[in-house]
Amino acid sequence: LAELARLAQLAELAQLVASRAEIMTAIAAASPPDAAGLRGRLRLLVLQPTPFCNLSCDYCYLPQRDDRRRMSLDTVDAAVQQVFDGGLAAAQLSIVWHAGEPLVLPVSYYQDAFEIVQRRKSAGVDITHHFQTNATLIDDARCAMLRRPDVRVGVSIDGPAWLHDLHRRTRHGAGTHARVMRGVDKLRQHGIPFHVICVVTEASLHHADELFDFFVDLQPAAVCFNIEEVEGIHGRSSLAAPRTEVLFRKFIERVLERYRHDPPPFLIREVDDVLRGLRDPSFGTMTTNGQNEPFAILSVGSDGAISTFSPELLSIEHRRYGSLSFGNVHAGGVFDVLGDDRFRRALADVEAGTARCRASCEYFAFCRGGAPANKLAELGTFDATETMFCRLTQKAVVDVVLTALDRDLQHAGRPAWLSARAQPRNG
Ligand code: SF4
Repeated sequence: LAELARLAQLAELAQLVASRAEIMTAIAAASPPDAAGLRGRLRLLVLQPTPFCNLSCDYCYLPQRDDRRRMSLDTVDAAVQQVFDGGLAAAQLSIVWHAGEPLVLPVSYYQDAFEIVQRRKSAGVDITHHFQTNATLIDDARCAMLRRPDVRVGVSIDGPAWLHDLHRRTRHGAGTHARVMRGVDKLRQHGIPFHVICVVTEASLHHADELFDFFVDLQPAAVCFNIEEVEGIHGRSSLAAPRTEVLFRKFIERVLERYRHDPPPFLIREVDDVLRGLRDPSFGTMTTNGQNEPFAILSVGSDGAISTFSPELLSIEHRRYGSLSFGNVHAGGVFDVLGDDRFRRALADVEAGTARCRASCEYFAFCRGGAPANKLAELGTFDATETMFCRLTQKAVVDVVLTALDRDLQHAGRPAWLSARAQPRNG
């Protein structure tokens, strides 16, 4: 027995040594950019004004949506100062106030925050502020703030009340559709354009026409269909069943059929993404997307914690990588992330996963390696390829759009749905 115990201890030790060796190899293989290499790379800065949300949708991935802390204006200042003084910002920088419901904070907070950004921003950088909101708190005062020309608004609404209220509820289980529509009416009264994000669940797949009709009446600038993802604390998706992929393709086919035959005054992000990809002169040559390129996206938590890659990784603690916050704006700052072992290990795996996607996937030119947050949530590692997320949002969508394109170009000359349209505001 003593001998067996000793052998077990040795085996455990060997395993520890092996996993330590694996970590060190991964860190050595990572190729983190240096500070100079990051100049002008940042296109999306996500600032978490508060983790708190006044709703409790059942598919929400946010782990701390009961936490009422708010990002101090000192933290806003430190984050934007480091971004601009470090030369990180691209010529067009989007600042997204998200990862909780941003409009639970008062208008005065954003007035102060916008002033800080304006004071710190570098010459030649064009900034747009984005609010993705559940719209339940939109009133006249908030509309006055959202009406600024440098602000874009996205509303989360899942279609008509009987679909929306299945999942988007208060903490007491009450539906929220009526309150969202009151918020949308306020936006309309103030002439504020908005796009919508509609989360597609298994229930939505059977109602493409009702959803399409609803959005024709709502008249947003764009409709973005997000799938119900496995992400953060949301460990199961109603779309994970094997038969769902067929239903999802039918859903997208039907939406596209309506879009082609009677083009509405809004664009559909999923269709537009494929068409924009094809029109881009660099199509087929790009090897990363925003989410798998370090520092193309930077997320700063309400306490100053810094993350990069997919914004959903902020606040995630993972058994393989530990905390996916790689630094803090108040301790070392943005550039210290480059030397952080957890960041370097994550980067090595993100790069390995992207390289494997590139070597194996015929959709790579459109997708360019997928979303690290989905690979981690579904497969437990960044060094991975196909996920449910990419099967639905990339492979199925690309197949459906290309099939329609092929058919229409053969039979109809230049179909109306291919006409250039405005970009979605911040889908
Ligand atoms: S579609 Fe999936 S497998 Fe293909 S490149 Fe994207 S993430 Fe990788």
